[in-house]
Amino acid sequence: MRALFEPRLVNDAFGDPGLYVDFRDERRALLFDLGDITVLPPRKLMRLSHVFVTHTHMDHFSGFDHLLRVVLGRKAGIVLVGGPDFMAQVEHKLRAYTWNVVHRYEVELVLDVREIGTDGRGRRATFSSRRRFERESAAPFEVIDDVLHDETTFRVRGRLVDHEMPCLAYAVEEKAHVKVGKDRLASLGLSTGSWLRELKQAVLTGAPGETPIRVQWRDRHGEHLITRPMSELRHLVLDVVPGQRIGYVTDLRCTESNVRTLSQLLPGVDLLFIESVFLDEDREHAARKNHLTARQAGEIARRVGAKAIVPFHFSPRYEGRSDGVVAEAQAAWAGAPASLRPAPG
Ligand SMILES: [Zn+2]
Ligand SMILES: [Zn+2]
Repeated sequence: MRALFEPRLVNDAFGDPGLYVDFRDERRALLFDLGDITVLPPRKLMRLSHVFVTHTHMDHFSGFDHLLRVVLGRKAGIVLVGGPDFMAQVEHKLRAYTWNVVHRYEVELVLDVREIGTDGRGRRATFSSRRRFERESAAPFEVIDDVLHDETTFRVRGRLVDHEMPCLAYAVEEKAHVKVGKDRLASLGLSTGSWLRELKQAVLTGAPGETPIRVQWRDRHGEHLITRPMSELRHLVLDVVPGQRIGYVTDLRCTESNVRTLSQLLPGVDLLFIESVFLDEDREHAARKNHLTARQAGEIARRVGAKAIVPFHFSPRYEGRSDGVVAEAQAAWAGAPASLRPAPG
């Protein structure tokens, strides 16, 4: 199934956590976490419309300066989303620099910063390069059903989990996925063309059934043009199936309440990126550090009903042993028999 977006970890499993979600047919992307992002070339950073930060430990937020430096003077705007106190933390970052020339840059950069409080409410402020990145408050927003961002084709939901501090876990959800029945197309004597994109767009954006679609194509008999209502074409050539859902979960403690929160946010998620910082033999250390072991990550993924998992955010102490960390997470996710698991300590 060709999904709307393609998620990829920014760094390897030992590097700073981060997920780059590229939209296949648009010059556009989302980023989850803002640690070391120097491997992303400027053209990829320029594509970002939204950056979602889980929490502001350095490995998740120190890349803010790099991003700002790349987009400043070139990009018109970017939305940054984070947890409690996020607006103040972005403001502190901006205050650390002297802005005596940026107001003259031809392209104005506006940072649209949104934070989710522990009360579940959304607050917003903007910072413009034209006004030396002074904080300007904007209207607060309501968070309904955990939705932090909503567009016609996808949404991003988020919930706070416990990392001895509030930390956001995220879900990226494609609303519906549309497939073209190529064989049916041929049997109707039609061929592909820009009209298919128009039809898909009409279906995905919930346009009324009577919306006329101009079906235009060319073959050896010449140019053809017919106009049919969307509702008719949709059933003839398209299959609409539920969209792809991705989870991005890092950093958190292994607690029942976190598992419950994730089960509500990510039930049956297609692909779950989940931190697996330590091996289960080091589980006491993991608990002290407020992180999961690979086995705990796998068990959480299984309880959430994840269809596939990608463990990441490994401690450097396992450098050279990443296969073992992955295997432990995968085994717990697959529900390996207890006899194959390390004995509980
Ligand atoms: Zn952390
Ligand atoms: Zn971390």
